[in-house]
Amino acid sequence: MKYRCKICGFVFDEEQENQKFIELPNYTCKMCSAPARLFEIVENDYLIDAETVVPNAVKINEDNIAIRRIVEDCINCGQCKLTCTKKEGLDFGEDSSLCVNCGQCITTCPTKCLKPINDITRLEEAKQNKKICIAYISPATRVTFGEIFNLPYGTFTLSKLVGFLKHNMGFDYVLDTTFGADLTIMEEASELIERLKENKNLPMFTSCCPAWVKYAESFYPDLVPHISSCKSPIGMMGSIVKNYFTEINHLDKDNIFTVAITPCTAKKYEITLEGNQDTNAVITLYEIAEYIKKNHLKYEDIKEEEMDTILGEGSGAGVIFGNTGGVMEAALRTTYHFLTNKTLQNLEFTSIRGLDGVREAIVKVDDKIIRVAIVDGMSNAKRLLKEIEGNPDKYQFIEVMNCVGGCIGGGGQPLINMDDALKIKNERIKGLYKRDQEKNIRSSYENPDIIKLYNDYLEKPLSPKAKKLLHTKH
Ligand code: SF4
Ligand code: SF4
Ligand code: SF4
Repeated sequence: MKYRCKICGFVFDEEQENQKFIELPNYTCKMCSAPARLFEIVENDYLIDAETVVPNAVKINEDNIAIRRIVEDCINCGQCKLTCTKKEGLDFGEDSSLCVNCGQCITTCPTKCLKPINDITRLEEAKQNKKICIAYISPATRVTFGEIFNLPYGTFTLSKLVGFLKHNMGFDYVLDTTFGADLTIMEEASELIERLKENKNLPMFTSCCPAWVKYAESFYPDLVPHISSCKSPIGMMGSIVKNYFTEINHLDKDNIFTVAITPCTAKKYEITLEGNQDTNAVITLYEIAEYIKKNHLKYEDIKEEEMDTILGEGSGAGVIFGNTGGVMEAALRTTYHFLTNKTLQNLEFTSIRGLDGVREAIVKVDDKIIRVAIVDGMSNAKRLLKEIEGNPDKYQFIEVMNCVGGCIGGGGQPLINMDDALKIKNERIKGLYKRDQEKNIRSSYENPDIIKLYNDYLEKPLSPKAKKLLHTKH
């Protein structure tokens, strides 16, 4: 007989262990220390399907790569289904393989029985196997880590998060995904300019949100050629860490375990896709919050630390990737420079900021006009796509993010009171814009590490090497 831990998925196999599970009432899970009562009998190593027990709940497949449900804690309230289908507009009917792994259902479950799959166990395993563990931190986590310790919403706590990852979680290196965001902008802005010149596959859609990309692939396959071929910032970090960082630091590429620290459950799905597997695991802040609570860690006990150098710093543009409109604003700063060789006088595109579901702007670049739109939430995306069906030339560039507010509202963020969600998301966004303003370097093309990477290694945006390492097929 086999028993599976409902918390982390570890399987106790009586045959392998040569012991009956029932004879071990005080057993605790080898991976996450969950007690024996949280184990359930499984067949074929899969969780028993929850559908029959909770008919009102959204369907979570037993092989869902990002989300799990603790069935016995579910009260069948239907809140998750309401969020998924009505609020988010992600109605996948009976085919639960179309779940985009966004985790928005987690954010509204009153009993907290929906959770991200716990990948801290995989980090523990890698450390036991003497792997060199490298973390990279997503932009939106630096203004939400403090919430775990009840700090005011939007507080910037990057050095504490770095210290936590190094000293409490045992990472050997901690790098910054804002660097990957800058790299994404270099490639994406160049791709946009190429498409504008050739008047091909416009409007171009952003590709950094895997939930949006999966949604488009499933429901709007004709749009796929319009989606940027750029990997997401995490995808680019994975490639550059495994290929460039290991080379310059003389590390054995096969002995590296890379972990993206994210606000996003859908990234757990993204790293399973072909071309994105240089990131070995994704750990969300939700999982980190559970770890911190389980280990009774206090904020004052966590040391402050600096990021490691090279790939350890992004521009202000990389930081605002974490909120809706940020990718577009970051892209416009660099696109303007690439097209004119000049620096923008006013770097802040305030008309595309905020939390209105659909925002648009007309950007004048010398004698050219670029029409852009920003949309967050799939309900809003559907509205916009309907609108452009009859007017495909209306925009040249469209940013789409699955979660309302962008990644600051991701399904892997620490839980918040959803009655105050808009207010809280606004505070998180303010925290990122404030950080952008404080940075000396606010555009991706000015980041000295980015310049060095292209000079020493990639040659130029869209070079054959850059295309091989930083782009993908949808
Ligand atoms: S993860 Fe997203 S798409 Fe999947 S069930 Fe939850 S809300 Fe729906
Ligand atoms: S919201 Fe949570 S408790 Fe309610 S039906 Fe969904 S999974 Fe069950
Ligand atoms: S908006 Fe951000 S957090 Fe939400 S699914 Fe997309 S990438 Fe993940």
